[in-house]
Amino acid sequence: QGSSIATVNPYTGERVREFPALSTEDVGRAIDAAHCSFPNWRARSTADRGALVQRAGRLMRERKEELAHLLTLEVGKLIDSSRAEVDLASDILTYYGEHGPELLEERPLRPLSVPEGTAVLVNEPLGVLLGVMPWNFPLYQVARFAGPNLVLGNTILLKHASSCPQSALALEQLFTDAGVPSGVYTNLFVRGRDVGKIIDDSRVQGASLTGSERAGVSLGEIAGRNVKKSVLELGGSDPFVVLDGHNLERTVYAAFLGRMGNMGQCCVAAKRFIALAEVYDAFVTGLRDRMSEVQPGDPVDPATTLGPLSSEAAAELLVEQVRDAVDKGATVVLGGGRPDLPGAFVEPTLLTDVTPDMRAYREELFGPVATVYRVADEDEAVALANTSPYGLGGAVFAADPERARGVADRLEAGMVWINHPTASRPELPFGGIKRSGYGRELGDVGIVEFANRKLVRYV
Ligand code: NDP
Repeated sequence: QGSSIATVNPYTGERVREFPALSTEDVGRAIDAAHCSFPNWRARSTADRGALVQRAGRLMRERKEELAHLLTLEVGKLIDSSRAEVDLASDILTYYGEHGPELLEERPLRPLSVPEGTAVLVNEPLGVLLGVMPWNFPLYQVARFAGPNLVLGNTILLKHASSCPQSALALEQLFTDAGVPSGVYTNLFVRGRDVGKIIDDSRVQGASLTGSERAGVSLGEIAGRNVKKSVLELGGSDPFVVLDGHNLERTVYAAFLGRMGNMGQCCVAAKRFIALAEVYDAFVTGLRDRMSEVQPGDPVDPATTLGPLSSEAAAELLVEQVRDAVDKGATVVLGGGRPDLPGAFVEPTLLTDVTPDMRAYREELFGPVATVYRVADEDEAVALANTSPYGLGGAVFAADPERARGVADRLEAGMVWINHPTASRPELPFGGIKRSGYGRELGDVGIVEFANRKLVRYV
């Protein structure tokens, strides 16, 4: 029953509301509606579509309190973080509504490969896209997929995580209320395991998934055998490299935010802290002190700074990963278990002496557990950072930004931030390499992932 589509409050464990999955016939009808609405949608101008997406962004902000409380109810997010997510998702819709048309303008190709006449590259939509989205940022993840793609002219079927059905419905309502025509954005209540049949459908042209590696592998395989474009934004185990003790208090605070934001359930959370020997001890002490200050409690209470994880299963998995490390010799500097509280809580935990035989060394730690490694120099820092099978984001801290840049250039990652924890902003491309997936969302690169970049050659 774990996979039923339901709101379960992770703070109380209460099963609040359940929704039936759509029948095969209902899914077929939704695909048909998305397919039939495409010609009219694509015929409208980008400015026209952009205006509707902007309106959705404005409505989202008007509904901020209601949406924020829904996020906190469904995934246990601290209420202020929920509000911040509404702002970011709204900013994304507004940004692509406003700037999308310009980013999508056709581009003349000259003079390089066109000796005579002219050639242009035109961005055309592909058709019906399927978005498969996770629970950790229920609004943001959808906004960054749907916003740019609606402006481009694709129509969208959205399969959200089974644990945030009310957020999923609120999003669909938002686009409807903004005036997006019927069939252009449709929420689908289907289970993860039933996604394959939708991708197999010849009316669907591409799919984007944010979530676990397991789900990404499955979707990528099915899209591949159907010769359909896919974008995968999977897990990460981002390195956070500290090269010196310059402005250490700021660096420690950034580390704290990078690890503890959204209770650590962030694909680009800082997960492996790699500190040069000269700063290691002071960094570990500083981070331990910061992490030990958090106050567990009800995520709706603004005084709470440690909320529950998204589900009991997530909390159990994280504690198993910690236990495995401790059994194999890791040092627990802070935490290590579950506090004596109901709800899906895990203590803020800091581990050192983590070695390659431990799960914590290779696996994504999706919660408030930091691992800190001591290295002798930059070469060792880079080598350790790149041992991860993942390659999503990374951060480098140093007094000299050029020195940090030298390390950034050697990191196997899709995004590196210097002197700031990895983050997401509406205008910046987001995505990774290696087992973190492929393709980008947002930015001028992301908006054309599902475009037919058509060449038109005049001779
Ligand atoms: P999942 O990958 O299972 O969930 C993400 C989305 O994928 C959900 O909509 C889910 O649907 C769907 N899904 C599940 N299985 C399939 C499948 N076989 N084919 C297509 N879609 C599928 O993540 P979990 O919630 O299980 O989290 C597990 C781990 O994944 C986390 O601990 C974390 O490590 C990682 N993760 C990473 C995220 C990121 O931002 N990169 C976000 C979420 C998780 P349904 O809910 O119905 O199963």
